[in-house]
Amino acid sequence: MGKVDRIYNFSAGPSMLPLAVLEQAAKEMVSYNNSGMSVMEMSHRSDGFGDIIQSAEKDLRELMAIPDSYKVLFLQGGGSLQFSMIPMNLFRNSRKADYIVTGRWAKNAAKEARKLGQVNIVATSEDKTFTYIPDFHEYKNRLSDEADYCYITYNNTIYGTKYTELPNTGRIPLVADISSSILSEELDVTNFALLFAGAQKNIGPAGLTIVIIREDLLGFAPESTPDMLNYKVHADAKSLFNTPPSYSIYMAGLTFQWIKGQGGVRALEKTNREKADILYRAIDESKIFKCPISNKDRSLMNVIFLTGDQSLDKKFILGAQQRGLVNLGGHRSIGGMRASIYNAMPLDGVERLVDYMKDFEQRL
Ligand SMILES: *Cc1c(COP(=O)(O)O)cnc(C)c1O
Repeated sequence: MGKVDRIYNFSAGPSMLPLAVLEQAAKEMVSYNNSGMSVMEMSHRSDGFGDIIQSAEKDLRELMAIPDSYKVLFLQGGGSLQFSMIPMNLFRNSRKADYIVTGRWAKNAAKEARKLGQVNIVATSEDKTFTYIPDFHEYKNRLSDEADYCYITYNNTIYGTKYTELPNTGRIPLVADISSSILSEELDVTNFALLFAGAQKNIGPAGLTIVIIREDLLGFAPESTPDMLNYKVHADAKSLFNTPPSYSIYMAGLTFQWIKGQGGVRALEKTNREKADILYRAIDESKIFKCPISNKDRSLMNVIFLTGDQSLDKKFILGAQQRGLVNLGGHRSIGGMRASIYNAMPLDGVERLVDYMKDFEQRL
């Protein structure tokens, strides 16, 4: 790699973390709070760690305005384990669920749920390679009023789409995967019965999964459910049923404090919109780059673009790397480019990318 003053990492996940968070963690790596111990070495039952996990939960509740009627769980197993835990815990009456399939992750979630009950795909955008979000008004009549829940992927990391209008499912619990959009824009938690996110996109190191679940949905898992897969077991134990991913929770806590320092989710959303606008505008104004995503459904976090010529895409990605703009390759299933511009990506990173795009086009 050439000599560059700073690396901007556009990876979809694990992804960039705020520099201030990494520096704080580095400072406390060997001795946390003058304890002579790293957080990694602390008992998860110690008072010291108790403070860390309780503050992390308190800060997350404040940042997302999570009501007391919801539990916040710090779990493991990634976003993917939730694809199984959700049906295991939420199939409780009809054992039927409605799924809206807007990409690979929703598809995987539906596949896992099908092993445990009946899955009704009420809408899918696979006909157009997931380049749009199906219109609620077109599929609302297909929603079942006996479904145990309705499932969506709020932001589609691979395809670069996001919901702007939520399905109104009435009394049917709405479940959403917010792995790649948590804390990036304001979200009314009370619209959902369950939200979950792997930490490695917008929060911290891999290994931690956050679940926000409405209390009245706890306690329906069948007797045969392994304790580790039962939300109620984790809720009753305040996420300390077994050893939690303690260092990842500590890092998540630092990120939550950083977000508070930035002015909270509202302030981040403003910057995130600004970043996305700059990038989409550059793509739309360009003669060589295109964004295949329908305008109203464009993700604020994962920006997809391509030239339509694979070798040119490759040249662009290589040139970017030489300028310290790394990991711009699209997901292996769709190619092209993907710029993931999560909370930790500064405006400067996006501006440098846009400068490079213009430069690249001019020199062609
Ligand atoms: C990354 C991602 C996942 C998968 O997360 P793992 O932690 O790797 O299991 C699921 N859903 C979405 C929306 C994602 O972006």
